[in-house]
Amino acid sequence: MGLDPLYRALLSSPKRVLTVSCPVRMDDGTIQVFTGYRVQHNNARGPFKGGLRFDPAVDRDEVMALAMLQTWKNALVDLPYGGAKGGVVCDIKTLSLGEKERLTRRYTAEVMPIIGPMDDIPAPDLGTDGQVMAWIMDTYSMMVGRQSLGVVTGKPVALGGSVGREEATGRGVMCVLKRFVETTQHGSLEGMKIAIQGFGQVGYHAARLLDELGAVIVGISDAFGGIYNEEGIDIEAAGLYYRERRQLTDFPGGDAITNEDLLTCECDVLIPAARENTLDANIAPHVQAKIVVEAANGPTTPEADEILRDLGITILPDILANAGGVTVSYFEWVQGLDNYFWDLTRVRGELQRVMDRAFDAVNAKADEADCDYRTAAYTIAIGRVVDAVRLKGLFP
Ligand code: NAD
Repeated sequence: MGLDPLYRALLSSPKRVLTVSCPVRMDDGTIQVFTGYRVQHNNARGPFKGGLRFDPAVDRDEVMALAMLQTWKNALVDLPYGGAKGGVVCDIKTLSLGEKERLTRRYTAEVMPIIGPMDDIPAPDLGTDGQVMAWIMDTYSMMVGRQSLGVVTGKPVALGGSVGREEATGRGVMCVLKRFVETTQHGSLEGMKIAIQGFGQVGYHAARLLDELGAVIVGISDAFGGIYNEEGIDIEAAGLYYRERRQLTDFPGGDAITNEDLLTCECDVLIPAARENTLDANIAPHVQAKIVVEAANGPTTPEADEILRDLGITILPDILANAGGVTVSYFEWVQGLDNYFWDLTRVRGELQRVMDRAFDAVNAKADEADCDYRTAAYTIAIGRVVDAVRLKGLFP
């Protein structure tokens, strides 16, 4: 894209990295100290915005990388936000509800100086959900002395959340794949064989919506393994089973497979929707799908990306494919600031408009520059951020 080295240097590192220690009183009376981060990459286009992750694998580098990715994603779908990300090193499976609440509230108090409805707006990510957002909102509101709906998104609907937020990322994945198939192949999703890695908030809703449109979901998986059925898996039954047991193991609707089998199974479309770096150089040569839709953030390693491209596999990149979540988060923030709440039809319609527009822009750029979709998406996104940085100039 002919990026000026000055802007390359400016955008290569985050604007701010905050590391916090969160002492938490555990149920047994002991005190445990958790490490947390909030990284603010860039805010040239608007307040910082990005998810908060509770996961044992969280580290400073991961949060820094995800914050930068968020800047590009927000710019690509043209939201008036910069990019940020947060994380706390913890294993939520070992925390009681009370411990999780105390950890969330302490983390919020520690990052309080840099978050706020016009400053930096966290949202759910791996290991966090609407309840965690409700605790952050309440802690922040108590500390500033007024109700502040806009400080987080992904809140429960009963507390100023937006209808349609929970399914939004999965719906965005569906919209982008549908638009791609209709625009570039003049085809439809009907009968397409799809395998999805990860059956959480993103993977489940993507599976459900694609199934509704006539696609055949042949494979699904979670952290413990997966299920394959070439006739198609009953997604509603699998969803119920997963919600009850938190894993798909022994689900009777297909044959048990490993996560590696899932990534390399016979299918038309592969959707990694679990976590980063699951599609690596060992797996990539064996991928049979013709299209990879990155529902997770950073699921493909750079080496795997090159292998997949050499194999002629089309990749719909994460900053485009999974931008539906932050888009509806933006709708939630707008509704909270306005105190005027939309219905589901409006949320879904506006989401589709944003996703279609973003896909069309990336598709046109890929044609014009004769490049892959990831390069096209980055070119557009980085270009928009650079324009904003340039227009603002340098302070002082
Ligand atoms: P989640 O915690 O609800 O679900 C994650 C799923 O992946 C679970 O089924 C889990 O068992 C499975 N999983 C974990 N490790 C795995 C592994 N090594 N192999 C196979 N499966 C594994 O999380 P989510 O909200 O669905 O997020 C999934 C991905 O999508 C993450 O990369 C996240 O950053 C990204 N994302 C989420 C949103 C959102 O709105 N939730 C938005 C944009 C991007």
